[in-house]
Amino acid sequence: MNKREFTCISCPLGCHLELTESQGSDLPEVTGNLCQRGIDFAREEFRAPRRVLTTVVSISGSNSLLPVISAGPIPKEKLLACLDYLKRIKVKTPVTAGDVLVENILETQVSIVAAKTVE
Ligand code: SF4
Repeated sequence: MNKREFTCISCPLGCHLELTESQGSDLPEVTGNLCQRGIDFAREEFRAPRRVLTTVVSISGSNSLLPVISAGPIPKEKLLACLDYLKRIKVKTPVTAGDVLVENILETQVSIVAAKTVE
């Protein structure tokens, strides 16, 4: 039997979740959740954790930085590589919040978009 504990980050309540994986059972059992999202979160955290990425990128010809965000969660094991990739790019302005700056970053199927409009 394999047990893991998580804090659900799907809403501000932060339920303390306990996941138990038993031999012969297809899906691990989750307790401590107040709703289905906690079960989904714990199972995904156990199998393939993902996080939304937020950072800043350089603006071409300026000392300013542009805040960016991933359009969806990225596999946790690729976050550092994505940050390293974004550290090396420069974007041209004008940029509108929501503009896609990098499509399918490092083949994660997730795009990086501008989080702010810069004229
Ligand atoms: S289990 Fe549901 S209620 Fe609890 S923190 Fe997660 S989303 Fe919120």
